Amino acid sequence: MLALSKSRYCAAVQCPKLLWLMLHRPESVQADPANQAVLDRGNAVGDLAMGLFGAYTEVPFGDLGGMIRETQRLLEAGTPVIAEASFSLDGLFCSVDILLNRGGKRVSVVEVKSALHISDMNRHDAAFQYYVLTGLGYQVERISLCCLNPAYVRQGPLELEKLFLLTDVTEEIRGMQDGVAERIEGLRRSMGQTEEPPEEIGEHCFSPYACPCFAWCTQALPRPNIFDVGGIQTRTKLANYRKGIVSFAQIEAAKALKPDRMVEISQALHELPPVIDRPAIRAFLSGLRWPLYFLDFESFMPAVPLYDGCRPYEQIVFQYSLHFIEREGGELHHREHLARPGADPRRGVAEQLCRDIPPDACTLAYNMTFEKARIRGLAELYPDLRERLMNIHDHIVDLMVPFQKKHYYTRAMQGSYSIKYVLPALYPGDPSLDYHNLEGVHNGGEASAAFERMEKMPPEEQARFRADLLRYCGLDTLAMVKVWEKLREAAALPDTADETEN
Ligand code: SF4
Repeated sequence: MLALSKSRYCAAVQCPKLLWLMLHRPESVQADPANQAVLDRGNAVGDLAMGLFGAYTEVPFGDLGGMIRETQRLLEAGTPVIAEASFSLDGLFCSVDILLNRGGKRVSVVEVKSALHISDMNRHDAAFQYYVLTGLGYQVERISLCCLNPAYVRQGPLELEKLFLLTDVTEEIRGMQDGVAERIEGLRRSMGQTEEPPEEIGEHCFSPYACPCFAWCTQALPRPNIFDVGGIQTRTKLANYRKGIVSFAQIEAAKALKPDRMVEISQALHELPPVIDRPAIRAFLSGLRWPLYFLDFESFMPAVPLYDGCRPYEQIVFQYSLHFIEREGGELHHREHLARPGADPRRGVAEQLCRDIPPDACTLAYNMTFEKARIRGLAELYPDLRERLMNIHDHIVDLMVPFQKKHYYTRAMQGSYSIKYVLPALYPGDPSLDYHNLEGVHNGGEASAAFERMEKMPPEEQARFRADLLRYCGLDTLAMVKVWEKLREAAALPDTADETEN
């Protein structure tokens, strides 16, 4: 008999082949390293939401049979609020986040999501639970979806009834029941088949979630292909794919993309020299002034607001690195700031930043939208620092622009203008600039996760991660300095014909 949990059922809602692959070809499912952080966040939000209806009893996690028996015992004992109540019906299994026991097999169900909005997939999830419970003879009086309230601003202790938004979806869910029964019946038939289902690539591969089997399902396509092109929308990729424009050669022949994307295609296909638009690079550099500062922030986004004035998922800066050069030919200096975990880092970051960057200094950021938004947030929060912070904000220049506009492009950038691609393309084989050689923290996601976990780490581990974070963020601004140096070198050369002029 097909064993179907609610997460497997939801996978099949996205694509039946996805469930088939999970069951028959587990090697086709690519693990996403970010998943653990998502799971941890979901668990933390779920734990908090358990308290929404007052005192509760949680069914301890363990073997399925034990969880089901414990749920029965709690229901029969008249326990009013049960968290992780677990049920099974003909191979279908679900754990209900919060079950309100009204007595006499009358229950209400609350499904908790750590997102800011409820989605159609959440409704499918709830519909599956409703199906299992009603199939077991329960009278589900109400089923609600609970998500975080994007408008909630913390002031003082958390107010759970304001932090969470409950949406009654009972009628919608009742209306979905025939569809649930049909889908389960269909899955019971199809999941036993030994032949891989011939599902076509489509929107469902990207939405609501990026499918973890995409590499498997596209293994027969030429490499690289339209799905490897960066900076274009999924619908453009799919439209070309459906027209049979898949390989880079086909994209080039059909001139299928905008000119800036076609540069990437031509570079990948042919042994062309780098694109270096010297006049455009000179124009960019002429907008910079001494002293020159290179700034990079690290932030984290706690689902549950940790500090006063914060909303759910607000970006909180906890660290920055700053390289700077005072004058032409001057030495490269470095400053940095990393907050202590466990306390609100924002004031410390704001004050130190105001001390570290002098008024009117030209400050480079790579993808400045992020740094500017964080500085505006700090300026709103601290009126006494507002003028200084906005002075920094107003003097930020985006170092990403020459690469985004393809004024400097080499094949090794693989179509990306992210500094993680630009840097190794400009300094191939330089181990001191290789993020892979870092310990512990290699990207922004790992930096956020590390800081979020640091408070609970033992002191030695905390010290190790602190060093890792400082090295990682320091490399981010050193990378910016090195990239800027390459732009200067390029601008200093005459406009010769040894590169493709743009
Ligand atoms: S990649 Fe697309 S077709 Fe393949 S399993 Fe995933 S959703 Fe289905």
